[in-house]
Amino acid sequence: MPFDRGDLGEIADEEEDERKKSGRALGSKRRFDEFDCPTCSANNPLDFGNGDEVPCAYCGLEFLVIVDDEGTLRLREL
Ligand SMILES: [Zn+2]
Repeated sequence: MPFDRGDLGEIADEEEDERKKSGRALGSKRRFDEFDCPTCSANNPLDFGNGDEVPCAYCGLEFLVIVDDEGTLRLREL
């Protein structure tokens, strides 16, 4: 089915562009300028990167920032 294959190709290109734009290509060195609190869902504008500890301005909890090789942000509650 040629149409399906063409669609997949386009989607892959867009994902690659999105990867570069979003900073995912930087992997664990990626920086972020905001995070959504996993506990109260509040949006916190803050500059941080892998290994930083970030406080939520709303519920007061602190989180350890973990950025993996894919540039994916994870927050572990402290
Ligand atoms: Zn919070």
